[in-house]
Amino acid sequence: MAKKQFKTESKKILDLMVNSIYTHKEIFLRELISNGSDAIDKLYFRSLTDPSVSLQKEDYEIRITADKEQRTLTISDNGCGMNAEELEKNLGTIARSGSLDFKSSLSAEETTDVDIIGQFGVGFYSAFMVSDHVLVISKAYGENDANEWESSGADGYTVRPSEKESAGTTIVLHLKADTDDEKYSDFLEEWKIRELVHKYSDYVRYPIRMLVEHSQKKDDSDEYEKVLEDETLNSMIPIWKKDPSEVTEDEYSAFYTEKFYDYEKPIKVIRQTAEGTTEYIALLFIPSHAPYDYYSKEYEKGLQLYSSGVMIMDKCKDLVPDHFSFVRGLVDSSDLSLNISREMLQEDRQLKIIAKALEKKIASELQKFQTEDREKYESFFKAFGSQLKYGVYADFGMHKDLLQDLLLFPSSFDDKLVTLKEYVSRMPEDQKKIYYATGESVDQIKLLPQVEAMKAHGYEVLFLTEDVDEFALQIMRNYRDKEFANAVENSEDLSTEEEKKALEEENKNCADMLQFMKDTLGDAVTKVQFSNTLGDHAVALTNEGPVSMGMEKVLNRMPGMEESVKAQLILEINSNHEISSKLKELYGTDQVKLSDYTKILYGNARLVSGLTLDNPSSYSDLITSLML
Ligand code: ADP
Repeated sequence: MAKKQFKTESKKILDLMVNSIYTHKEIFLRELISNGSDAIDKLYFRSLTDPSVSLQKEDYEIRITADKEQRTLTISDNGCGMNAEELEKNLGTIARSGSLDFKSSLSAEETTDVDIIGQFGVGFYSAFMVSDHVLVISKAYGENDANEWESSGADGYTVRPSEKESAGTTIVLHLKADTDDEKYSDFLEEWKIRELVHKYSDYVRYPIRMLVEHSQKKDDSDEYEKVLEDETLNSMIPIWKKDPSEVTEDEYSAFYTEKFYDYEKPIKVIRQTAEGTTEYIALLFIPSHAPYDYYSKEYEKGLQLYSSGVMIMDKCKDLVPDHFSFVRGLVDSSDLSLNISREMLQEDRQLKIIAKALEKKIASELQKFQTEDREKYESFFKAFGSQLKYGVYADFGMHKDLLQDLLLFPSSFDDKLVTLKEYVSRMPEDQKKIYYATGESVDQIKLLPQVEAMKAHGYEVLFLTEDVDEFALQIMRNYRDKEFANAVENSEDLSTEEEKKALEEENKNCADMLQFMKDTLGDAVTKVQFSNTLGDHAVALTNEGPVSMGMEKVLNRMPGMEESVKAQLILEINSNHEISSKLKELYGTDQVKLSDYTKILYGNARLVSGLTLDNPSSYSDLITSLML
């Protein structure tokens, strides 16, 4: 029989497996057991609706057999099995779960096997981490013929007819020769197999059986004899159904990394048991990092949904709201029917009740997390904080009460992140609003003249560097009755009534000059005015109207924005700065120069605000001309 070649992508993964430097080679067993369990699930499901499937739940099993002489480890199941075509399709290619779309976008150096195993679980191919030859004999349920698939690794595989009595799949691994670093023969030892099943597959719902040797007293004598007995190695109790006091953090983490294909353990585990009208157990995990596709359209939120221990849906979207879409995990409820359809689920009242309760639980756990382990919470927030902010903004601010206290921002107070509650609690008495300023980076925002002035005045300013930030605050409008205000637009709050009056006076007296300057700048600004809150800085930009400078940038970056949005800019001149008298003098003596100066000052103000210049070369020429 001619050898067939693996598809290119599969070959790559297979190469990685064969030459694996991955230290957790032992996971191959969990992968094969889990495939067996999935195959039994499939048949079990069929039996619920198809009376011709005569197997009872007790009949199902996964069996492990070790043969030290032959150096083989055999894993068999009596699940749905595969026919020749399925063997070819399922084991000849790895095209599922989008893993390869992702992988192909990475270069060879970037792809380590750790990533792949971590993120996608390579399933069946992991057998090649420990074997130099793999034989799969399978018979699909309801068919007469059996077939076998055979491969020694990357050089290809063959599929040919075979013999097998009953339906299911038997996988025979011929283990690699031992090396100094790796003792593959350990996988043939009873203790090792027990250990691995306990560690990774304990909760598998079907018995994992093995013939084990026991010593037994001979009848009528004191001598012992060795007998082989069938033993079930797994407890079959799902981890979420165990008493939480009997499950260690490590066991939860191992369950999570295996089940949800993450290479890092979760940053937080949340367990909830509800009794009463709606009964369920939820085991939820907050990943410690955002999945590579988290902030893209490809990411699918959802929790696994179980009905009395049997999975009925892999990603039930309706169980988690978008603002907590990063939460992974599962819900097991005895109140849901096993063969409920997706459409019916959406309308299911119980499901809605569960979702609502989970949302509350997640929020309160995050709140607790924030107070109990701030450092870890901040690392969580780095990964998923943007999502919480989107959540505040989404649905017209509907979720603000739930989410607002979970937010963190950098601020002018110190280098730490601050919650809104902390901000408000340390506001000086005369401060009425919560101030924020936007920019590309914290360092850039810190240097804004108005921010410096606020800080000098003893008012804290939140630093907003993410696109969503200002939109979220605007939709919240206020926090504990304190309204949010852009520091750049509200620097007059720092002046006393007298100072305000004096400023008004000055603006009035110099109205002609200011108008002249405004005309020089044309449409670029709506106004030029004096300010007395700019500290040592000569000029600054502020704006009026609903669109801030930060929002202008964000909105114009959005795809599909046909007309560009413009913030209405105001050029502010520091009335306490020498430049003021200079400008006033020029207005009487040299208006050509005044107009040049105005353009330069406007350019300076743009740069200080982190904006680009409309015409950098004419700005540069103007400055150079002053040097001559
Ligand atoms: P995954 O399990 O993630 O889909 P695998 O590479 O482990 O990926 O398996 C590929 C496919 O081969 C499975 O989706 C399943 O259809 C089939 N398969 C693997 N093992 C078995 C088995 N023991 N019985 C029936 N089908 C199996």
